[in-house]
Amino acid sequence: MRRYSAFAIAREAARFHTGWERAWRSPMPKKAYDVIIIGAGGHGLATAYYLGKNHGIRNVAVIEKGWLGGGNTGRNTTIIRSNYLQDESAAIYEKARSLYETLSQELNYNVMFSPRGVMMLAQTEHEIRGYKRTEHANRLQGIETRFISPAEVKKLVPIIELAGPRYPVLGALWQPRGGTGRHDAVAWGYARACSDMGMDIIQQCEVTGIDQKDGKVTGVRTTKGDIACKKLGIVVAGNSGVLADMAGFRLPIESVALQALVSEPIKPCIDVVVMANTVHGYMSQSDKGEMVIGGGADGFNNYTQRGSFHHVEETVRALIETFPIISRLKMLRQWGGIVDMTGDRSPIIGKTPLGNTFINCGWGTGGFKSIPGSGWAMAATMASGQPDALAAGFGLDRFREGRFIDESVAAGVAH
Ligand SMILES: Cc1cc2nc3c(=O)[nH]c(=O)nc-3n(C[C@H](O)[C@H](O)[C@H](O)COP(=O)(O)OP(=O)(O)OC[C@H]3O[C@@H](n4cnc5c(N)ncnc54)[C@H](O)[C@@H]3O)c2cc1C
Repeated sequence: MRRYSAFAIAREAARFHTGWERAWRSPMPKKAYDVIIIGAGGHGLATAYYLGKNHGIRNVAVIEKGWLGGGNTGRNTTIIRSNYLQDESAAIYEKARSLYETLSQELNYNVMFSPRGVMMLAQTEHEIRGYKRTEHANRLQGIETRFISPAEVKKLVPIIELAGPRYPVLGALWQPRGGTGRHDAVAWGYARACSDMGMDIIQQCEVTGIDQKDGKVTGVRTTKGDIACKKLGIVVAGNSGVLADMAGFRLPIESVALQALVSEPIKPCIDVVVMANTVHGYMSQSDKGEMVIGGGADGFNNYTQRGSFHHVEETVRALIETFPIISRLKMLRQWGGIVDMTGDRSPIIGKTPLGNTFINCGWGTGGFKSIPGSGWAMAATMASGQPDALAAGFGLDRFREGRFIDESVAAGVAH
């Protein structure tokens, strides 16, 4: 792989950009691999990357039914934070956040990590109590968060209306090193690095069946033929239930469409991420100037990846209470992604009932931020066959044993 650098840009400019290599190869599948990962979203690609980098396992294929990053990874609102309540969650989200700090350098690909600060507004007494509790938990976990006053909120976000017609801003939980990243660049950066290690990323290739013998998976059936493997990783977010059904087990997952929208671009006016969970909306400004706005999840299970008008109306109406200046903005685009929701709003990483098959799913509305940490933990789990320390609490067995990791406050609305 030829490295990207200022020198490379100058060299290519001088020769009219005729020398750039393809960022990753697009091969036909081989007959067999040591490891197959189903799903070339961020989590699948990061798993493959850390399998190669940390564990030397490189005979790997990542199989994708569409295009890489075309699932939720390329559809989210890119918020990165680690201010979760429970120790297990804080550990894996903070591992991910800290890996994001140097991911561009590590992958030699600009993922545009922007630690501009993330703020979760407290607009009821109940939220103040909840966020103060999280602040105390984060201090014990070694995560830098702080409950800030309305005056500090106003200083950080001058366009905010503190009084609000319904809910005044009473303070906020502030994580100064939270922020955003460029979502598809994360997928592209990992894909390029995987391809460079000799791994095959096979797009436009749907897994349609899973072959098994004596309680173990022997390979997958795909629209590009049958492929054998020694280990299988299922990393397909909203399609997890479908793949589990193919493999013959069930998951405690519900799939729903979660929606988002962006406005026309305007001059820079907000340089932090603000979440207003009581009125249900959140917003940040992209480098292009668009307001990136998160909406709600559909109230019924479905597999559509479309937006719907009533979500635009509800979300914008809610946000205008806190940001009256957006009332005259035109909205440009809306979309949806199929998110995989567990009952405790925490992910599932680990073994399945099939000996050599592992699953990583259940990130629901908040798994962009966790991609590096999740890939790190999933790769270690797949390499050793035993749950990695970061993944230990997130096994499927917790639902049988009633050991929930309840993050419904940290992840119920906020992403
Ligand atoms: C609107 C919206 C806003 C969000 N905002 C945030 C946010 O601000 N911050 C945050 O942290 N998270 C956010 N999320 C959540 C985040 O996007 C997801 O948790 C994360 O991207 C999941 O990544 P993934 O790799 O598991 O799944 P995906 O990116 O969905 O990848 C799974 C891949 O599997 C493929 N696949 C499925 N079935 C098959 C098959 N049979 N054969 C082959 N391939 C298959 C799919 O095509 C897909 O590409 C948001 C999500 C949405 C939808």
